[in-house]
Amino acid sequence: MILKSLGSTEVKIPEIGFGTWQYNGGVEPLRKGIDLGAFLIDTAEMYGTEGIVGSAIQGLGDQVFVATKVSGTHLKHDEVLRAAESSLKRLATDTIDLYQIHWPDPRVPVKETMRAMETLVDRKMVKFIGVSNFSVKQLQDARKSMDKYCIVSNQVEYHLMDRAIEESLLPYCEKNDITILAYSPLARGRLTSKPMLRHRKAMGVLQEVANQTGKTMAQVALNWCNAKPNVVSIPKTDKVERIIENCGASGWRLSAEQVRSLDRAFR
Ligand code: NAP
Repeated sequence: MILKSLGSTEVKIPEIGFGTWQYNGGVEPLRKGIDLGAFLIDTAEMYGTEGIVGSAIQGLGDQVFVATKVSGTHLKHDEVLRAAESSLKRLATDTIDLYQIHWPDPRVPVKETMRAMETLVDRKMVKFIGVSNFSVKQLQDARKSMDKYCIVSNQVEYHLMDRAIEESLLPYCEKNDITILAYSPLARGRLTSKPMLRHRKAMGVLQEVANQTGKTMAQVALNWCNAKPNVVSIPKTDKVERIIENCGASGWRLSAEQVRSLDRAFR
């Protein structure tokens, strides 16, 4: 499993982690992922999966890196503190490795939210601060409003069928040492199922690259995301065999020409 730095920190995270939105697989697939080196697990207060993640990581201590999120409806100062306390209880742990703002709320001053996030780090309830679904402008405002700590990550949608971040967000994050956690990296399953008419040609190229590399389409799609230096991806699956398959998306690299042909096909 290839590891990447988390933001500008010394901490290393695997380039394949596991998402748990609509996760119903129980403890076993998550443990299998951890065994295979995919020790980053992403959850959120609104997913209803912090409890199962808590069960999967019991007794594993520093061997896992747990990312959870405060909902965008809880961004007032005291709401953030309460949400973190509740997440810690559900996760049955003392510290959240990465605490992310799930989505921005323009009605709450970002300074107020970031002050609460910094308090959580001061209190050792949280190790690192991240955000999700933030634009460049929202990131700039949030970063300006922080006194002591940095934003280490931004979790956003990124996959072959949605490349919107490539225009400005991805370069901004790369320049400022902010890790992108790519969500829905398999386009919610669309990159591995029978293509709709408008994607048929591009999916043919994905299949061709899979044939050339001896990998599956899911593995190629994930490897394509992770080819960017500051991107890690967090696919979700309920199935142990797919956990194994998705972990096999790391440890090798598509050639520059293969990346270019996928770029062209899905442009
Ligand atoms: P995804 O990971 O792109 O796709 C998940 C779908 O792909 C599931 O239907 C899964 O089915 C299937 N799948 C997984 N591995 C596969 C494989 N090797 N072959 C074929 N099918 C496979 O989509 P996602 O769940 O939307 O995104 C992943 C994670 O990102 C979420 O769980 C969540 O943690 C995060 N996320 C965050 C936000 C945000 O606002 N921050 C929004 C959306 C998602 P099975 O389970 O049946 O295998």
